[in-house]
Amino acid sequence: MKNKNNNKHNKKIVGYTGHNKNFSKKKQVVELKCIEINAEGNGVAKYSGSEVIIPNMIKGEVGIIELTRRNGFYTGKIIKLLKKSSDRVKPVCEYYFDCGGCQLQHMSYKAQLKYKKEIIVKLMGKYGTVKDVLSMDVPYDYRNKAHFTFGEWNKKIISGFYKEYTHRLINIDRCIIQDKEADDIAITIRELMRSFKIQPFDEDTGRGFLRHILIRKGMVTGEIMLVLVVADHKFHSKNNFIKALLQKHPNISSIIMNINNKKTSMVLGDREKTLYGKPRILDELCEIKFLISAKSFYQINHSQTQILYNTAIDMAEFKGNETVIDAYSGIGTISLIVSKKVKRVLSVELNPDAIKDAIFNAKENNIKNVEFICDDAGRFMEKLSCKNQKADVVIMDPARAGSDERFLNSLVKLSPKKVIYISCNPYTQKRDIEYLVKNKYKVKDIQPVDMFSHSYHIENIVLLTR
Ligand code: SAH
Repeated sequence: MKNKNNNKHNKKIVGYTGHNKNFSKKKQVVELKCIEINAEGNGVAKYSGSEVIIPNMIKGEVGIIELTRRNGFYTGKIIKLLKKSSDRVKPVCEYYFDCGGCQLQHMSYKAQLKYKKEIIVKLMGKYGTVKDVLSMDVPYDYRNKAHFTFGEWNKKIISGFYKEYTHRLINIDRCIIQDKEADDIAITIRELMRSFKIQPFDEDTGRGFLRHILIRKGMVTGEIMLVLVVADHKFHSKNNFIKALLQKHPNISSIIMNINNKKTSMVLGDREKTLYGKPRILDELCEIKFLISAKSFYQINHSQTQILYNTAIDMAEFKGNETVIDAYSGIGTISLIVSKKVKRVLSVELNPDAIKDAIFNAKENNIKNVEFICDDAGRFMEKLSCKNQKADVVIMDPARAGSDERFLNSLVKLSPKKVIYISCNPYTQKRDIEYLVKNKYKVKDIQPVDMFSHSYHIENIVLLTR
C-alpha cells in the first residue's frame, strides 16, 4: 500500500526546465514524496524505480522537484513544497542554503536528534536498546576550530567557505556553529589586508599572499591560536600587521605562519614559523591541561567532548586497579583523563607528532602511569596478544575508517572484560561491532552523543563485554 502511494508521487511530471544537449544532464520537474533521510542528511525519494537524492527535504514531505540526471544518478532540487513536515524550521544561518557546511538546519534541533538516533537504531538496534542522543544545551557557537579561505570578488577581499562540491567562495561574516571571536578575527583580517595592501592568494594565477586562516580556541582558557596560511615566506609589513591585529584581538596568544605554495586543496603546508607567542595554546578537558599545536587532532566541541569522555568512563566502572589500553589515542586526551582512575594506561597512536604532544602533555600534568606507544594499533595489539599480556579494559576511538581485522582479531585474543568503542562513523563502527559480537562479545550499552549539531555527523559510544 505504501509503495502504491509513493508511486502516485513518482509519476506526475509537472514540466521541463530546460534540456541540456548532453542527455546525461537532462532536467525534469516532477512531484515527489520524501521517503527517508539518508546518512548525509539528504532527503531520498523514488522516481522510476531509482533513488533521487534531494538536499533539505524531510521524510514525509511532498514537493515539486527539479530532477537532474548525471551518469545515471538522480539528484533533486526543491522548487516548491506541497506538504511540509512539522519538523521543518527556518534555518538560523543566512548562508545555509549556499554553504553546505551544515546539512540539517532546516530541521528543528529535536528532529535532528531524532534523525541521529534513528540512524543508530537502524544500524545497531538489533544488538540492544539505543539510548536517546545526549544533546547540547545550546547547539550553537560550539566549534573551537575555524577555517576561512580568502579570495577576491568584485575587487573586494572576501573570506569564508567554498560552496560544497564547487570552487565558489562564499563570503561569511558569521558562522553560527563556531565561536564568534573566530568570525570577528576573520573580518578584522579582511580589513587589515586592505590597509596593508595584502593580496589574497589566487589559485588560478598563483598570485597573491594569504590563502587561509585557521583559528583554534581553548574554550576554558580563552587562548587563541591564529595560523596564517600563506603562499610565500616574505611577509611585508608583518610587524605592523600583527600589532594592529593584537590591538583588536588581545586574546590571540599565538600566531603561526604556515607556508603552503603548492597547488593543492590541502589547507596546511609543511613549513611553519611562530610569528608571535608560543607554538601551542593551552586548554583544559575534564580538568586535565592540554597544549595543542596547529596540526594536532583535538575534538572540536569542547563541552560535548567532556560529556563523551565522562560517559565512556562511567561505562567502564573503573575500580582503580585496572590496566587500560587507549587505542587510536591522538594527543592522549582519553589516556590522560582515564589515568587518574586506573592503575596503568597503554596509549597507542600511529602519528608521531600526536605522540610527541601526548608525552609533553603527560609531563605538564605530572602523570606517570601512562605509556605512549607510537605504532599501528593493530600491530601493537598483535604483539601484546602474542606475549600473552592482559588488559582489563580497551577504549578504542579510531578515525572514520574504523578499525581493522588485525586489531579486532588480537582484541578478541587479548579478551579484555570490557571494550568501549567510541566512533564518529557509526557505519564502520557497526561493521567492527558485528565482528566482536560474532567473537564472544555482547553489546551492553549504546549511547549516541551530539557533537556536531546541524550537521549529519554522529558520535556514538558502544560498550561491549565478554
Ligand atoms: N582519541 C583521540 C583521537 C581520536 S582520532 C581523541 O579523542 O582526541 C583517531 C586517531 O587515530 C588519530 O589520532 C589518528 O592519527 C589515529 N590513527 C589512525 N590510524 C591508526 C592506526 N592504524 N593505528 C593507531 N592510530 C591510528
